[in-house]
Amino acid sequence: MSIADQAPAYIRAISPYVPGKPITELAREMNLPVESIVKLASNENPLGMSPKAQVAVENAVAGIERYPDNFELTRAIAERLGVAMEQIVLGNGSNDVLDLAARVFLAPGRSAVFSQHAFAVYPLATMSAGAECVAVPAKHYGHDLAAMGAAIRPDTRVVWIANPNNPTGNFLPQAEVRAFVAAVPKDVVVVLDEAYNEYLAPADRADTVAWIREFPNLIVTRTFSKIYGLAGLRVGYAVAAPEVADLLNRVRQPFNVNNLALAAAIAALDDHVFIAESYELNRNGMAQIVAGLKRLGLEHIPSHGNFVTFAVADGAAVNRKLLQQGVIVRPIGGYGLPNHLRVTIGLERENARFLEALEQALR
Ligand SMILES: *Cc1c(COP(=O)(O)O)cnc(C)c1O
Repeated sequence: MSIADQAPAYIRAISPYVPGKPITELAREMNLPVESIVKLASNENPLGMSPKAQVAVENAVAGIERYPDNFELTRAIAERLGVAMEQIVLGNGSNDVLDLAARVFLAPGRSAVFSQHAFAVYPLATMSAGAECVAVPAKHYGHDLAAMGAAIRPDTRVVWIANPNNPTGNFLPQAEVRAFVAAVPKDVVVVLDEAYNEYLAPADRADTVAWIREFPNLIVTRTFSKIYGLAGLRVGYAVAAPEVADLLNRVRQPFNVNNLALAAAIAALDDHVFIAESYELNRNGMAQIVAGLKRLGLEHIPSHGNFVTFAVADGAAVNRKLLQQGVIVRPIGGYGLPNHLRVTIGLERENARFLEALEQALR
């Protein structure tokens, strides 16, 4: 007998999250200089963080002996979104608020519905809470909302939706998402994960947060990890009806977002120049990579995020050959896509390096 056997079976059944390979790890393994490695594996912003956020972090170092006060960031987000401060829940990354939603609404004897090929954190959060996963087959790699609606059981309390989805990049038209939220039973929470919201073309955007007034069972989550370039600081948030936000805040660790992250996020939120630059770079880089994939005769899944997933004959083999050349992308066999790889849109020269290495890997 091992003491590990004493953990509930639903905890022991969890498959660990597999992160993108760190640059430093590949450098050690391949004996390559760190500077020579191109990492396009974790949907990070290739421009780094906003210069304003950087200054804010430096200034916040004085004061690090104090516990954080999340008032200012909460107020800034609430103001930006036109909601009450009582509707905002800050997280140590948006992962944290996804987990809070699971802990509040899921438990053994309950279930959560999500799509095949959807973000890996949904089964993790669901299982951590002891609830059952109901994975619904994807349609063209994306969410099949009709099938997801039909999969809702009497014990279902959460539906997870990523829009756009990671790792496939699929985007559901906002009207379809709204109709889905309107149609789900009122005792089922819909968590709408919008980690890539800021990368959407203007025509694809919608004020999803405003829907919460009409649908108190809707939780919208966003993050500072992607376009805002603060993945390493860990800050994200949920917007919810006040009574839902209140519950999430009760299970939240009181000081889950640190001083540096709070300061950086406040500054980043207002750096419109950096956001516009990041958006533009992503659009151009996406065109560059998509053109390159087509040139190599590879199929890709049209993406609305800052990454694109493409098909190869043998995902593991191509990934290995890319790593040997110092290029890190994301194998997504764990998402049920063993012959696809996901590449994050990088700087123009990084995208070019990736395409060259890929051409080499396919030879
Ligand atoms: C990256 C990502 C997140 C954000 O994770 P953080 O914890 O905020 O860094 C959330 N959802 C999806 C679908 C993502 O791809």
